[in-house]
Amino acid sequence: MDTVVYKEPAPIADKENPFESMMQRFDIAAEMLELERGVYEYLKTPVKQVTVSIPIQMDNGEIEVFEGYRVIHNDALGPSKGGIRYAPDITLDEIKALAAWMTWKCSIANIPFGGAKGGVKCDPARLTQVELEKITRRFTANMLDVFGPDKDIPAPDMNTNEQIMAWIMDTYSMHTRRTENAVVTGKPLIIGGSLGRREATGRGVTVSTLAALAKRGMNAKQSSCAVQGFGNVGSVSAKLLGEQGIKVVAVSDVSGGYYNKKGIDVTRAMEWVQKHRTLEGSEIGDSLTNDELLELDVDVLVPAAKEDQITAKNASRLKAKIIVEGANGPTTAKADPILDSKGVLVVPDILANSGGVTVSYFEWVQDRQGYFWSLERVNRRLERMMHEAFTNVFRTAEKYNVSMRLGAYILAIDKVAKTLKVRGIYA
Ligand code: NAD
Repeated sequence: MDTVVYKEPAPIADKENPFESMMQRFDIAAEMLELERGVYEYLKTPVKQVTVSIPIQMDNGEIEVFEGYRVIHNDALGPSKGGIRYAPDITLDEIKALAAWMTWKCSIANIPFGGAKGGVKCDPARLTQVELEKITRRFTANMLDVFGPDKDIPAPDMNTNEQIMAWIMDTYSMHTRRTENAVVTGKPLIIGGSLGRREATGRGVTVSTLAALAKRGMNAKQSSCAVQGFGNVGSVSAKLLGEQGIKVVAVSDVSGGYYNKKGIDVTRAMEWVQKHRTLEGSEIGDSLTNDELLELDVDVLVPAAKEDQITAKNASRLKAKIIVEGANGPTTAKADPILDSKGVLVVPDILANSGGVTVSYFEWVQDRQGYFWSLERVNRRLERMMHEAFTNVFRTAEKYNVSMRLGAYILAIDKVAKTLKVRGIYA
């Protein structure tokens, strides 16, 4: 059988692009799985890439044309799922990489979705609400053949929110002449959103942390933790980790961080950020920088801000025994072997932050059933699925004698590859 031939290991770039980092890990996992060359090529290539032009009459009466994208990386497991971002500097390449990332995440989460991503090249900060709504509606109208509850289901991402999902749902519904709330997730509750969606990613991070502590034979109530990033994922993670008895000794955001060896008052920090946008001035402990936070002597580190925070430069100085990646791509590929050689247990992003997409799946299920679950049911099912995903990744890592990160990629790729094989190639 023709398997992938690697003449030389791909050089790991010093300038670490998170998507290249992801593809490097994909290559290693593909090699360990001895993927057939054809399947390897199939999984590297998106099944569909659509670019549309979005002409809009701006508030000043002039016409401006924006560009919109939707990339479906793979739909072997089911309808494709992934967010839509609005940003001035997005590129089709970036969207392609993010779409692949979603394929692996959905595969690990064991939900019946493929991976997709989309976006519109625009600067939302310079648009009025009316212009933003027009862009969203025209983008949706141009994507009518792509989107659909059985085909491709968008969700919020960078600079898009519940309101934008509501406009997508409404535009799609106007064209299909019926209310189709299952066409997007991350909607407002009143039009078919799910209870527990907002906290889902942080809740999944907490389940992953408790499972990792148990694997290391550590007691939550005697463990300490530092959380980088205090937005949706970081603040909810800090709060829920604290509720589990883990002492959160440091938190940070773009304005810097605070350390308190007695434990940060997370509720107070959340109230402060709600009023003042950032942690700056909250005086919840002694000031420290983001770099210092990463290197604190804690049991658990939760990077929940942005990509490329743990790199070959600082990885050897990190003291945490466990890293739970709330953010996407916080660790570069070059840092992986350094953390592995120190024996750090890294719960990788595609597992640790998959609670969000799991509850998006629940939202879709509830919309299609027309029956909405209690918060207690959402949380119970989320916790069960996160636990199962963690166990599956851990077992795969043990079986192949690799890190949890590579175990996650192996598990994800293997499932999609097996599905492709059993479905066969239509010709
Ligand atoms: P957010 O915008 O709510 O919060 C981001 C936080 O990071 C803010 O506190 C911000 O101040 C901080 N931050 C920004 N730049 C920083 C810097 N240079 N140093 C330190 N802190 C910085 O975003 P979020 O939804 O919490 O997402 C955070 C990460 O988690 C992203 O990587 C995102 O892709 C990932 N993620 C989010 C979800 C979700 O459901 N929200 C799901 C999966 C993954």
